[in-house]
Amino acid sequence: MIFDILTIFPSMFSSPLEEGMVGKARERGLIHVRVHNIRDFAPGRHQMTDDRPFGGGEGMVMKPEPIVGALRAIEASGPAARSILLTPQGRLFTQEVARRLSLLPRLVLICGRYEGVDERVAEYFTDDQISIGDYVLTGGELAAMVVVDAVARLIPGVLGNEGSALEDSFSQPVLEHPQYTRPRDFEGMSVPPVLLCGNHETIRRWRRGQALLRTRMRRPDLFARLELSPEDRELLEESQK
Ligand code: SAM
Repeated sequence: MIFDILTIFPSMFSSPLEEGMVGKARERGLIHVRVHNIRDFAPGRHQMTDDRPFGGGEGMVMKPEPIVGALRAIEASGPAARSILLTPQGRLFTQEVARRLSLLPRLVLICGRYEGVDERVAEYFTDDQISIGDYVLTGGELAAMVVVDAVARLIPGVLGNEGSALEDSFSQPVLEHPQYTRPRDFEGMSVPPVLLCGNHETIRRWRRGQALLRTRMRRPDLFARLELSPEDRELLEESQK
């Protein structure tokens, strides 16, 4: 899968997308991340990428010509792409949105700055607008990294163990169960004994119970949408004892 990122701060992407699973996936050619400097597509000697808002008001707005110039220039360089503007006004980015995007061959992510991007870019030159949450960042770069990371780990081969993504919170309608590793005893705090019993079915039941319990406590909105099986009810009751 190819990610084309349009930004005025390309160097922001060097370290975050070169480390960990995403870095390895790039090395192995499972994903390609290409970062394009919007300024390179800005006409004129000063290569301006922003200007004052029509109608007055605070701040600057990103001009349409450099962004559209960049979009047109990269259009021909690969498979058909879905172009996405990162904006706090977009639809909310969720695990389900990430899953759908991971099925596409190519994404173009446009990072805004200042007061945002000229509305004509959003209206006529993008396929989608995505927000990573109900808060406002100074720019779309961190949002683009969030999207690349969450989408990339769903691409087959990127995670060492494909099953682990299936059990993640939000891949299922419940939060994931708690995890423990060595040492068994850490400063007097022990790992729940059930995890050491070696019986897979007993462990599965305990984990399911814990997942339900923490979903009810931490995310009552998700819990309210769950359809609990008779076993779920039983495990929930057991977990509270
Ligand atoms: N004035 C804009 C508004 O109120 O909708 C906010 C502009 S914000 C300061 C600058 C840029 O950061 C946006 O163009 C967008 O690319 C990015 N951004 C900020 N918050 C975001 C969020 N929650 N999700 C995605 N992108 C965001």
